[in-house]
Amino acid sequence: MAKRREGARTEPSASLIRLAEKLFEGSDEREAFIGSLMRPSEGKPAVILLGPPVGSLRFQTPPIWLPEFARVVADGERPGKSPEHERGELYCLDASSLFCASVFSTLPAQGGFVVDLCAAPGGKSIAAFAALRPRFLLCNEVIRKRTAQLISNLRRCRVSPSVVTSLDPRDLELRIRSCADLVIVDAPCSGQSLLARGIASPGCFHSATVGMNAKRQRRILAHASGMVAPGGVCAYMTCTFSLDENERSCEWFLRKFPSFSAIEIPHLASYRSNLTTLPCYRLFPHNGEGSGGFVCVMKRSAEEERGVFDPDSVTPVWTSS
Ligand code: SAM
Repeated sequence: MAKRREGARTEPSASLIRLAEKLFEGSDEREAFIGSLMRPSEGKPAVILLGPPVGSLRFQTPPIWLPEFARVVADGERPGKSPEHERGELYCLDASSLFCASVFSTLPAQGGFVVDLCAAPGGKSIAAFAALRPRFLLCNEVIRKRTAQLISNLRRCRVSPSVVTSLDPRDLELRIRSCADLVIVDAPCSGQSLLARGIASPGCFHSATVGMNAKRQRRILAHASGMVAPGGVCAYMTCTFSLDENERSCEWFLRKFPSFSAIEIPHLASYRSNLTTLPCYRLFPHNGEGSGGFVCVMKRSAEEERGVFDPDSVTPVWTSS
């Protein structure tokens, strides 16, 4: 059962209607989009598989983008109570997080050095671990109290070798110079897609909220740029719908950092955004595959010199043994 709605409104706000007008040309699709946010559903519980085949749960037919290391759970199942979860063989998350994480398996970062810049509670870090088995995974979460949940999840799922840091992206960039094969920026955002799961996200359509988030996202992206190795990638993702936090942030990034270019993700071709000429990909809630998401992968030219990561330059708050 749905938990909460946008301020228990019965009519969409003017700012939600304006957003829908920017996103969709057709009134049918606008109405379907608004309806999915005003009349939320439960979301689609999914799991990342980290161990042997799971015997105690039933799964649904997966959407085409679901990575092979994940499953969508059948109605009525409670994966968080399963013995596999207890043994650290499962990580539970909403399926739409996996729309964005599905890009990891396609990236040139297998066995490489992966940095997750906005990591708590750990869903994308664990997905990157499942997809890429990195040589080293650095999970950063700037808000120190949020690292407890992140550490607990990494420890339970035996994500190793990995470390957790709690640094501002500016300070992390000073320590990680041009040497990460993949930098994940699962950015803090206005959280508009949460409404589709019945989770309140106050003020999420307000221009001040969107503007504040877009500014913060660009700052995080700018610091991420310095961490990416030549030939490496930055995977930018959000769980919101506004253009300023998504396509416009990527366009800004590519103008500011011309050694990067956005790359196509073939398995998401039918989800390509028509709101930009860049290869950006969106999941919308009214299509029934999850509450929503946005992802764009930006690759750095290989023609520069790779830096060397010195693990002693970071003081982790946790290290996998
Ligand atoms: N990647 C996580 C996952 O999949 O479980 C979810 C990340 S959540 C969308 C965004 C995270 O960014 C939050 O944990 C938040 O604390 C963090 N954050 C907030 N402000 C930040 C900033 N200025 N720089 C970096 N991260 C920030």
